Amino acid sequence: PIRSRFAPSPTGFLHLGGARTALYAWALARHSGGTFVLRIEDTDVERSTPAAVQAILDAMQWLDLSHDEGPFYQMQRMDRYREVVAQMLADGTAYYCYCSPAEVEAMREAQRARGEKPRYDGRWRPEPGKTLPPVPEGVQPVVRFRNPVDGEVSWEDFVKGRITIANRELDDLIIARPDGTPTYNFCVVVDDWDMGITHVIRGDDHVNNTPRQINILKALGAIVPEYGHVPMILGPDGEKLSKRHGAVSVMQYDDDGYLPEAMCNYLARLGWSHGDDELFTREQFVSWFDVSHLSRSAAQWDPKKLNWVNHHYMKQADPARLAGLVKPRIKRRGGVVEGGVDLVTAVLLLRDRAETLEQLADAAMLFYAPFRDDAELRAQHVTAAVRPAIAAFADRAATIEWKREAIAALIKEVLKEQGIKMPQLAIPLRVLVCGQTHTPSVDAVLELFGRDIVLARIAAGLD
Ligand code: GLU
Repeated sequence: PIRSRFAPSPTGFLHLGGARTALYAWALARHSGGTFVLRIEDTDVERSTPAAVQAILDAMQWLDLSHDEGPFYQMQRMDRYREVVAQMLADGTAYYCYCSPAEVEAMREAQRARGEKPRYDGRWRPEPGKTLPPVPEGVQPVVRFRNPVDGEVSWEDFVKGRITIANRELDDLIIARPDGTPTYNFCVVVDDWDMGITHVIRGDDHVNNTPRQINILKALGAIVPEYGHVPMILGPDGEKLSKRHGAVSVMQYDDDGYLPEAMCNYLARLGWSHGDDELFTREQFVSWFDVSHLSRSAAQWDPKKLNWVNHHYMKQADPARLAGLVKPRIKRRGGVVEGGVDLVTAVLLLRDRAETLEQLADAAMLFYAPFRDDAELRAQHVTAAVRPAIAAFADRAATIEWKREAIAALIKEVLKEQGIKMPQLAIPLRVLVCGQTHTPSVDAVLELFGRDIVLARIAAGLD
């Protein structure tokens, strides 16, 4: 059974690339009824913060990517890493190296001077028949992994295809620092081993770590997982996606009014495909997900397409849910929802024109903003020529059934009697009732406001 993991470093918000990686790792497990593990790689104590951990957990929850095991925290597993270091020292797959940092630097300098690639020269690496230097006084050693010198390390990357690295290209990696703390690659290895990870999906910025990790796993006698390194996400201009392109934190999209299911659909498609399908449910995504359709080339962020996807999900979302999501946004704009027009009805009227919840909130202010009379606009549109039509409308509006259809019929009747065209009545009505010239269908808007407000505003505006 598949066991996949998402292993973010809590050094900031969850960015779009991380969210997409999490989504793929999650889908891989869900597709086969496997297990999805969440692991927080918080060993970089300088840069890791509890707030960042929380931000990641929040984002995972918003995207509804639930884990089956974890979250595990590497900082809570230090004893285990030390135990494995000790075990490797004992079985000879790792060794102490007493080179001081200055010595390592001098070694590199000399290599560079000779035109060689700087690398650890193995001076503390035990070999049969080799005499090691005398252990210096007062130096705390690092622990190095005894990387194989011959042969190569090779894996079939399920995104990039076969990758092969000669072992002589790889240094004897430091796995524990002088103070005994384990290093990054080593923690990942022990975790993937202990957590029984069968599939690693991660960003291709980690591809250089993989041969090192595989060698350590082999030395431990662990089963080597399958690896897939997904290419990064590029901005619309083809440059690496960054703040410059707008939001890079996935939760910023929550703030900006995107629905999580739209975000998941968009992210899923960004780097993975299922034929020509652009829109699919979460269930379809899980059942279709297949690592062989992960793209080898970098994906490009496309804000217009994201808006299109979001619009799709807004149109089919439960209106009561949308109302709940848009309400705080209306309040933030100074709108008053309580006691006003029914919000669910307003949402149903407005959502077809809104690509995001923010746009929907903007549009909804039509109903919830305190009415602002714009005298100039009124002077411009409520002219002497159209006043009789407005008066006729207001007269009869008092007696009709207050329903969209009846309002529309009344407007038509007045147009006919007065010999004017729709905009000549509809626009002044909008100006009088809504304080603006552009709104959705005027009959629907008037119905929603209710007869009392409509007639009161017309009367006030005509005086
Ligand atoms: N912690 C790493 C990161 O946030 C991921 C490591 C991995 O997936 O192996 O980039």
